Amino acid sequence: MIYLDHAATTPLDKEVLNEMLPFFSEDFGNANSQHTYGQKAASAVIKAREEIAGCINAKPSEIYFTSGGTEADNWALKGVALAHKDKGRHIITSKIEHSAIYASCKQLETLGFEVTYLDVDSEGFVSSDTLKNAIKDDTILVSIMFANNEIGTIEPIKELCAVAHERGVLFHTDAVQAAGSLKLDVKDLGVDLMSISSHKFYGPKGVGALYIRNGVKIEKLISGGEQERSKRGGTTNVPGVVGMAKALVKACAQIDENAKYVSSLRDRFVSAVESKIEMIKYNGPRHDRLPNNASFSFRFIEGESILFSLDLRGVCASSGSACSSGSLEPSRTLMAIGVPVGTAHGTIRFSFGKHNTVEEVDKTVEILADEVNRLRQMSPLFKQDKEKKEYV
Ligand SMILES: *Cc1c(COP(=O)(O)O)cnc(C)c1O
Repeated sequence: MIYLDHAATTPLDKEVLNEMLPFFSEDFGNANSQHTYGQKAASAVIKAREEIAGCINAKPSEIYFTSGGTEADNWALKGVALAHKDKGRHIITSKIEHSAIYASCKQLETLGFEVTYLDVDSEGFVSSDTLKNAIKDDTILVSIMFANNEIGTIEPIKELCAVAHERGVLFHTDAVQAAGSLKLDVKDLGVDLMSISSHKFYGPKGVGALYIRNGVKIEKLISGGEQERSKRGGTTNVPGVVGMAKALVKACAQIDENAKYVSSLRDRFVSAVESKIEMIKYNGPRHDRLPNNASFSFRFIEGESILFSLDLRGVCASSGSACSSGSLEPSRTLMAIGVPVGTAHGTIRFSFGKHNTVEEVDKTVEILADEVNRLRQMSPLFKQDKEKKEYV
């Protein structure tokens, strides 16, 4: 099998697994217990918090563990909205956010908040001017993703954050796709809140973190015990946070080398696909793009059929985004960058990882060219268009 769906999830790193194993067995303590078992768990959690903080230039007291990226995103939006509702009820986000942000915004609308969804350009970039013009006196929060999960666009977060701060507005970024692949320095960026998720950087699933700058007012999302400085109840997932810390430290130590390797595979793939397959669209930018992401729309055929054919031949990719696959709605991101609905339906995302090889890339291109060709031969749309010579 050739796994090219690292934006959906990554395999657990073996070293990370080994670091986690004792906390599933002999070191099973509850980090809140007073006895020796508890203390052992608590010190592992303290160490994990320090390591994660170190990787993003935060203080340990600014790291809050969650059950993943989705919870961190929900908490950032709902927690800030509830804590600041007397100041204002307007929130700004973009049209290409992950569903964790989008659905949270939709829910906040039903609770009396107003949300502006910013347009992006044809490569997925949010501009500072667009943001500047959208800020109102009652705006309390701006949430723009660090890097897009479908088309890889890396947003100018530092610039956008400065625009929000000029008007005294808090700034959150969903950095789930970026963490482990790109350098993240919360102090340099200036962000007030930032979400990350462990399983996107070779850590375990079901654990993530929200960075909350000291001094930012936020309501709880999960009520319960005194965990996470009384801001997020629930017994700490000790093996999870230990694994997340190990995975992030490892990813950060190899960040340049991994980005260089993975982007070389991606670039090789993109140029081979562009030279071997006609009537395609490469979605997203060629600069300021996640090193591992390639998104192509293949005209006249369905993404789902390509995906199925690839899977039969041992290649795992994704149609658009994992989170919108299974639904018939075209991806919000592709609509926002102006891809026509028909073309959007023929979209496949390939996301590379540190274990992929050049041989796998070449093999995938060969299989893909073959399958696209075969599916197009069966497509009535393709035949019509070919006769009229209306190539787009
Ligand atoms: C995967 C992802 C999430 C959700 O994270 P989970 O830990 O899977 O809940 C949120 N935002 C982006 C951009 C993602 O890629």
